[in-house]
Amino acid sequence: MVTGACGFIGSHLVEALLADGRRVLGIDSFSTYYEPAIKRANIAAAATHPRFQLIPADLNELSLDEHLNRGDLVFHLAAQAGVGPSWGDGFAEYSRTNIEATQKLLESARRRGVARIVFASSSSVYGDAPTPMTENGPLNPISPYGVTKLTAEHLCRTYGQAFGVDVVPLRFFSVYGPRQRPDMAFNKFIAAVAGGRPLPMYGDGRQRRDFTYVGDVVRILLAAADRGTPGLPVNVGGGSAVTVLETIELVERFVGKRAIVERKPLPPGDARDTLASTERLSALDTPPAVGIDEGIAKQVEWQIGRRRSVFAKQAPKRTVAMYSHDTYGLGHLRRNLAIAHALQKRSPETRIVMLTGSPVAAETRGALPVRLVKLPAILKVGREEYVSATSRSFSAVRAERAGLIASTLLQLRPATLLVDHAPEGVKGELRLALQLLHEQLPETRVILGLRDILDDPDRVRQTWAERGIPELLANAYDEVLVYGSRELFDVCDLYGLSPAVRARTTFTGYVAKDPAMEPPRPAPAAWAGARRRLLVIGGGGGDAAALFQSFLKVWPGLADRAHAHALLVTGPLMPEAELRELSMLAAAAPAMTLEPSSTSMLHLIAAADAVISMGGYNSVVETLAARKPLVIAPRTAPRHEQLIRARIMESLGLARVVLPGDEPPRRLAEAVLAVLSEEPPGEAAWARLDLEGGRRAAERLLAETREPAALG
Ligand code: NAD
Repeated sequence: MVTGACGFIGSHLVEALLADGRRVLGIDSFSTYYEPAIKRANIAAAATHPRFQLIPADLNELSLDEHLNRGDLVFHLAAQAGVGPSWGDGFAEYSRTNIEATQKLLESARRRGVARIVFASSSSVYGDAPTPMTENGPLNPISPYGVTKLTAEHLCRTYGQAFGVDVVPLRFFSVYGPRQRPDMAFNKFIAAVAGGRPLPMYGDGRQRRDFTYVGDVVRILLAAADRGTPGLPVNVGGGSAVTVLETIELVERFVGKRAIVERKPLPPGDARDTLASTERLSALDTPPAVGIDEGIAKQVEWQIGRRRSVFAKQAPKRTVAMYSHDTYGLGHLRRNLAIAHALQKRSPETRIVMLTGSPVAAETRGALPVRLVKLPAILKVGREEYVSATSRSFSAVRAERAGLIASTLLQLRPATLLVDHAPEGVKGELRLALQLLHEQLPETRVILGLRDILDDPDRVRQTWAERGIPELLANAYDEVLVYGSRELFDVCDLYGLSPAVRARTTFTGYVAKDPAMEPPRPAPAAWAGARRRLLVIGGGGGDAAALFQSFLKVWPGLADRAHAHALLVTGPLMPEAELRELSMLAAAAPAMTLEPSSTSMLHLIAAADAVISMGGYNSVVETLAARKPLVIAPRTAPRHEQLIRARIMESLGLARVVLPGDEPPRRLAEAVLAVLSEEPPGEAAWARLDLEGGRRAAERLLAETREPAALG
């Protein structure tokens, strides 16, 4: 584990560990001490490595126990760095990250039996000590930052003494090189000289500093992990002790321009001279090797020549990535698979990769050539409320999903990303990925796919406003697809999309699954001799028990009048206990068969005389695509999506709706008898239901341009 993995030193360390064949878990909060985009760029190359996983989370908020295992090695580099801002109000953050998070890590390391922690301390613990600074000499920090680092060292020592936690503290002396933090001296010097701007120089420039090249620091971190002595701090310095003026001359030489030096008073907290005693370091047998000339030359080259994209050389392969958070039910997954199928038919050579949290993704995918990237499962338990599907905490799982999504997308370099339904992902888990795509892969077209109806307009507008979705739609998305008809539910108007986003929105029509996607199956034996066949479906099944219970109540009085045999398909996600109870009731009912799930739902629908379902997108669309009589018993909580859809279909004359309320079983019976006996809807009614959504969505996903074509 590397904490602070995306920072200056951390990102180099991650790369070295990966090169060494290790599996690395990086943790970084992308703190705003300096521009988080710089950290995302730091980690971009490593993020695509199959042995690397990034958890974008704050150490103080993460359940570390869930990520640490016995025998793990931890490099603890996360910190609020920098001396100046540690005075005043800024101190709270120093205390939180440098002290509190360190204590949290130590506790967790103790509980989980971590093998070793290598801790990034600092020469700031010495203050203005006599040089060379020796590890067992006086420790009198002169800045609050130094105090927090020394406190953290003390915490490491006490956890070592009391519980045997093995910590090797390393005291870094002014580290520099590629990716150096923008608040550090050389970064500022190089930027100023290259840009022809005044270069701020604190003091008279004659102060002497021990500068250490980042590559040397990384080697020493690895050596300390391997052969450091527990509890024994080691200076990491001795590379080059030079004056600040000398370094400015070197910057001038390598940048090829003269510096305009602007002298400023030495700020409080900065030691005048630093120089490391290197006796202990020499025991690690890996002395600093890069001299100041070579090191500054490398930093200049990085800082001035870095505009090239890390990925510029690689030719992208056509990949369409789909993100389907799938925290509840089967709806999103099934719709996305239908789109994937349409896409695959149109362009068999396109690689389709789906990131999904569904526990039944593989079964539901069937034979479709879609690669699945499984996200650890989380469950929706209420409006905007989620829990982890396992004993792990939600925050830990969310953080892991966010990192997995981001690194997978960077690795895939998709031509197009289709985000289903949730513009920022579950609780913002997609934001990091969207930001990274924007910065690293500007060629990737990012498309949001919205179901025909999300919920009541007021609720959607309110939730979107609270979560900053309008801004996200405007800035992060190239296009929006709505899998419905503008004429039936105008998402643009009702959800208040901005004119700019409307101009990039396409109503594709409803996405109906192609029956060719499913393995054919003969009609169930029980239906063979039946005069009429009734199919009752519960979609995923997670919330369908009430529908089946209502149906079971009316069925004994209805079976004879309907002259039908009922097949109940409860759904693969129905809780065990509910399924058991329903199975018992069904076994005792006349003319009834129950199946917990079916991979050939479309064939069942095709063989049925009428369908009774909730108001979920797929059940409704698939039944109407087969032009079957339909009774909808929509759920009305926690959202009104199904209710709105049911009413729309009723208004078209394509379905009958039974609302929860007074005597629903009786009205359910009436509706079933009615759809079985009445005339089917005329062509004019069917014509209003546009079912070309799969084809049109596929066209948009494969489009080469950013401009949506006029469709539909
Ligand atoms: P950096 O700021 O580039 O890296 C630190 C990383 O930690 C950042 O990416 C930040 O986002 C992350 N972070 C901050 N708070 C966090 C939190 N609460 N949870 C998770 N991540 C968090 O700094 P750096 O220069 O690479 O320094 C790395 C370490 O070395 C730090 O501990 C620093 O104090 C120490 N150090 C650095 C130097 C130097 O010259 N750069 C000198 C002495 C000590």
